[in-house]
Amino acid sequence: MNSLTVTSDRAALDILAIAAHRDDVEQTCGGTLLKMAQRGCLIGILDLTRGEMGTRGSAENRAQEAAEAARILQVSWRGALDIPDGRVENTWENKLKVARVLREQRPRVVILPYWKGRHPDHYIASTLGYEACFLSGLAKLDCSAADPAAVVAGVSPATSRAGRPQDSRQDAGATELSPHRPFKIIYATLYYDVRPTFVVDITEQFEARFESLMAYKTQFSDQEAGKDLFPAQKEIRSRIEAMARFYGILGGVEYAEPFLQKEVGLVDDLMMIPVKSI
Ligand SMILES: [Zn+2]
Repeated sequence: MNSLTVTSDRAALDILAIAAHRDDVEQTCGGTLLKMAQRGCLIGILDLTRGEMGTRGSAENRAQEAAEAARILQVSWRGALDIPDGRVENTWENKLKVARVLREQRPRVVILPYWKGRHPDHYIASTLGYEACFLSGLAKLDCSAADPAAVVAGVSPATSRAGRPQDSRQDAGATELSPHRPFKIIYATLYYDVRPTFVVDITEQFEARFESLMAYKTQFSDQEAGKDLFPAQKEIRSRIEAMARFYGILGGVEYAEPFLQKEVGLVDDLMMIPVKSI
């Protein structure tokens, strides 16, 4: 088992995106992660599986590719659990593994996959992630025995978080494994035809997000293996562009990524509500 390096001198993450597979986040919310990193947030990605069942490439290839994609998206921390690929199950053991990461990384915002979808790993990851967020906040729950995540991308030192909301993560004396519950959970929805609650303008980040997906060379470069299963690179580009354009049009911008939240939106100033009605 790979050991996890816990760096106590680093600030907690601002945002942690949790997904079933390496390359999921690059397809659903990579532009948003990059945008927030560019605004000074500390961003993390937790992949639940390592991709050993993929038609193309090995888990080792995919770890290198995931690290490269993380670099492009300016992600500070990326880890992968050892949940079997194609068999993401919402078990107690798996919930403890995710809860352990939440306690170590202490994100304010968690991005999960939308709770419906074609691939069982995606929608099960949604419920598993939500329940882990709940468990992670329970004072009497001990998840220190859960297997730590293998870190696939390094940790950068804390950067400025000026202007970000403060919360209990900065409490003096909080240790890495003390209880932690994220403030906000949002859902990335790209794989399912559902109307998003909001979209994030990624016009400036679109090219880099595409590049982060193309970092998965074993998956997306044109090749013989799995030719019937995987679209050609040109086709991927046009699909990604069409989706980002579609969500962009909904928000009145060029390219956007869609999200859902379960809570209602709170408005303070009617004059500042974005997106034109008529
Ligand atoms: Zn996936």
